[in-house]
Amino acid sequence: MSYQTQTTGTTSWTNPERCPFCDAGLEDGGWGFIAHVRANPQCSTEYDMWREQIAGDMGGEWGG
Ligand SMILES: [Zn+2]
Repeated sequence: MSYQTQTTGTTSWTNPERCPFCDAGLEDGGWGFIAHVRANPQCSTEYDMWREQIAGDMGGEWGG
């Protein structure tokens, strides 16, 4: 088994200034994304699934 960082799962987040789900530009890589997700139910759903997948893979919390 090889251990991968960052690229685990189906979403490859290559640019923190863009939403990985809908490719929209974000004002700020941190809070801009949170605000974007809250304003876009579709992205919110995908973000939740992505986060759960990361948590499942890592077996712990995913913190910034
Ligand atoms: Zn989005």
